[in-house]
Amino acid sequence: MSQQPILDVQDIVKYFPVAGGLWSKPKAWIKAVDGISFQVYKGESFGLVGESGCGKTTLGRTILRLIEPTSGSIKLNGREITRLNQREMRALRRDVQMIFQDPQASLDPRMKVASIVTEPLRAFQKTGRQQLRDRALNLLEKVGLKADALDKYPHAFSGGERQRIGIARALCLNPSLIVADEPVSALDMSIQAQVLNLLGDLKTSFDFSSLIISHDLSVINHMCDRIAVMYLGVIVEMAPSNMFGRIQRHPYTAALVSAVPTPDPHKKQSPITLEGEIPSPVNPPPGCLFHTRCTYCFEHCRVERPTLVEIQAGHTVACWLNNGRGL
Ligand code: SF4
Repeated sequence: MSQQPILDVQDIVKYFPVAGGLWSKPKAWIKAVDGISFQVYKGESFGLVGESGCGKTTLGRTILRLIEPTSGSIKLNGREITRLNQREMRALRRDVQMIFQDPQASLDPRMKVASIVTEPLRAFQKTGRQQLRDRALNLLEKVGLKADALDKYPHAFSGGERQRIGIARALCLNPSLIVADEPVSALDMSIQAQVLNLLGDLKTSFDFSSLIISHDLSVINHMCDRIAVMYLGVIVEMAPSNMFGRIQRHPYTAALVSAVPTPDPHKKQSPITLEGEIPSPVNPPPGCLFHTRCTYCFEHCRVERPTLVEIQAGHTVACWLNNGRGL
C-alpha cells in the first residue's frame, strides 16, 4: 500500500445550529462531528462503524462537501477541497463518487438504466450516443446485469439489482475514491453478501479506494482493511480489520464486536449489553463521551476527555484504561 493518502481528513468538525435563540442566534449546537482525523490510502478500504446517531453519515457527507464543514481540512489527492468554490468542486466530483443506502430513492424512476449509469459521463463531457450506450453496456456487464437492462426503468429491478445499477453509475468515471453509505443495509440478508463480494471484486478491477460507512461491524469487517469506530461524533478506536475481534481495547468496540453473530452455531456468544442510550450531541457529557455507559468508568473519565493514543503500530485508542491513568 502506497503512503500517499487519497483522502486526508484533519480535525474535521461539523456543528448544526438549533434555532430559537434571541436575535436569531442559535440557542445550541448539535455537535454531529467533533474533531475527526484519518487517512485513506491508495487501494485501501477504510471503514467507519458506529450506532445510528454517532455522526458517521454526517462525516461522509461533509467529506464530499454535500454539507459544509464547520472547520478542519479535507485533502483529496493532496488538494485541499474545503475552500473550493462550486465550479471547482463540480470538476473534482469526477474523482469521488457515492453509493447511497437506498437504491430505490437514489435512481430517477423516469430514466432508463442506460441514461442513469452514464449520467456522470454526460455531465462532464460531450459524448456520442453510441459511445454512451457502449459504456453503459460495459458497466452493466461489470456489475453482473444483462444487456436487456439498458432500456428498462428502475422499477423493473429487485433491490439488489438496483444497487448494482447505483454501483455502475458510481464507477462510470473511474473515480479514485468511492464513499459508500450503508451500501447493503436496505437489502435482504441473502443479497447483502453478493453485493459486498461484487464491490470487493470491482475494487480490484477498477482500482479505487473506498470509504465504507455502516452500523454493521460484520459488513465493515468483510470489506475493509482498516476500521475506525465512532461514538458521539469522535473516533474512539482505529485499527487494521484483522485486529478486530481479537484485540479491541475500547469498551465500546468490545461491545460492538461481542454483538456480531458468529457463523459457528456451537460457539457460545456472550454479547455485552450497553446500558442507556447514546447521549444527545447537543449536550454531550464531560470527560470521556462514553463514560455514561461504560462499566469500567472511574473518576478521571468524568473529568477529562481521552484522545487517541497509539498503543501498537496502526492501532489507536481513546480510553484512559490504555493511557496509563486507569492502571
Ligand atoms: Fe470507559 Fe473511562 Fe475508557 Fe471512557 S475512558 S471508555 S469511561 S474506561
